[in-house]
Amino acid sequence: MRLTPAPSGHDESPAGVRCPKRVRFARPTVVGVATAGASLLVWIFASILLVIPSVFYVIPLPEEADGLTLCLPGLGPLQRVREGLPPAQEELAYIHEGVHAEQCRANGALWYARRTLSPQGRLTLEAQALCQEVSVLSRRGGDPGRLVDAAVAALVSDYFEEGRVSGWEAAAAVEQACGPLITGPVGIAQ
Ligand SMILES: [Zn+2]
Repeated sequence: MRLTPAPSGHDESPAGVRCPKRVRFARPTVVGVATAGASLLVWIFASILLVIPSVFYVIPLPEEADGLTLCLPGLGPLQRVREGLPPAQEELAYIHEGVHAEQCRANGALWYARRTLSPQGRLTLEAQALCQEVSVLSRRGGDPGRLVDAAVAALVSDYFEEGRVSGWEAAAAVEQACGPLITGPVGIAQ
């Protein structure tokens, strides 16, 4: 229903309430604009967070990776392990990615992202994951010394571009991560 304006400078509603002819709406305040901006950012952020998992689970894994862990704020770790791996290799992939998932849960997505982006940080993350593999394999009768040396060699040659991480750096990271597993000096991969 549209009301016919009263002839004077005022509108009158059916209930007889007189209103000023010119209505001024409240102008946006700084707080209002900031709230709207924050809401928009939250919406964009939430949309990205919803898109990333759906993309993560459909894109092919990197050729050289048996598994992959993504650490997202608010969602925590997302994991994938390559299908069709031999059972023993698949188990190690789950053990390895399980360590990354725990790193993500314990320290948060921001911490995990910062570690992942720096070579030294990534070295620490990967050394801890490889040491968990060493721990499992040595409890099953594997030689801890040889397993540790293999972990150092893998860090130098498989996990980083050539020359990015020295054997000394990898050995130090593994020594720190494996701790009690190591009974003798850690071999230096060249
Ligand atoms: Zn890893």
